Amino acid sequence: MNRIPTLPVFPAGEAEAHRRLGTFIQHSIEAYDHQRDRMDLDGTSRLSPYLRFGVLSPRQAAVSAEVALPREQPAEDRAGVDSWINELIWRDFYIYILYHFPEVARTSFKINLRGIRWRNDSAEFEAWCTGQTGYPIVDAAMRQLNATGWIHNRARMIVASFLIKDLLIDWRWGEKWFMQHLVDGDPAANNGGWQWTAGTGTDAAPYFRIFNPTTQSRKFDPQGDFIRRWVPELAGLNNTHIHEPSRLSLTEQHSLGIVLNRDYPMPIVDHRIARERTLAAYARARETSG
Ligand code: FAD
Repeated sequence: MNRIPTLPVFPAGEAEAHRRLGTFIQHSIEAYDHQRDRMDLDGTSRLSPYLRFGVLSPRQAAVSAEVALPREQPAEDRAGVDSWINELIWRDFYIYILYHFPEVARTSFKINLRGIRWRNDSAEFEAWCTGQTGYPIVDAAMRQLNATGWIHNRARMIVASFLIKDLLIDWRWGEKWFMQHLVDGDPAANNGGWQWTAGTGTDAAPYFRIFNPTTQSRKFDPQGDFIRRWVPELAGLNNTHIHEPSRLSLTEQHSLGIVLNRDYPMPIVDHRIARERTLAAYARARETSG
């Protein structure tokens, strides 16, 4: 398996969709359940644009996976297939939600979270959009999105959580930016992903679950390879500092040739303070919802 993903290019056509499906099933599906969250690996199918535009049907995808590893196989051998088919089910689930509850396209599914008072700071939104937040994992993902039109599911969750819960910016701003930039931009899946992250949607994800971007970075890009690929100004940092360059002393910065706020921004927000601010804003919305 490649450690650093090659640039995701999505050639059009059914033949390409089937070629990708075949390659994924042959080489990656077995390990999918434990590698699918790693942003530095090429462990997911990258079929989303083909599924989005009907080039490949979800039934074709599910049946091909089932045929490759039939139900008679021991459960542990099927874990990757089961986990991948579960993701296809999320896709159908969000289509169902948008169809039956079309109001989710405009507002929160959860009525008691419709009154959140967002900060909506446009300078911070701009920093998020352009990958200049000072949180390397967020910046790497946003730069990849802007350059290629695709990012990994874990990266989508991290940047969405950062926008909503660290910056307290309305999830609909992020939803719109994604629709403008994703090659697989899909009103149902995108809305479902944003509302899941905001904790305002149909799912059990509680609103007080707030990702720590640095912890996520250490866990799902352990050697920092994904960051190095997309934030080249940090490429010279070691595996510890790459996730949190703001901890470098001034002397270390000069010796490494990367000066914060000159070559790369300091964090635009303190995660711990932002977390408390968001919890308070959500609690207020719940109290005042009646
Ligand atoms: P794989 O892991 O190989 O999964 C196979 C397929 O299952 C995907 O191609 C996709 O069709 C479907 N799928 C996987 N995860 C999900 C999910 N959580 N929800 C719905 N379908 C899923 N997916 C889109 O197709 N379009 C979007 O606009 C979109 N916006 C998102 C926004 C946010 C904030 C989040 C958190 C997720 C979003 N997703 C969206 C879901 C998911 O991130 C992508 O489908 C996935 O990253 C595509 O990569 P892949 O094809 O390698 O997926």
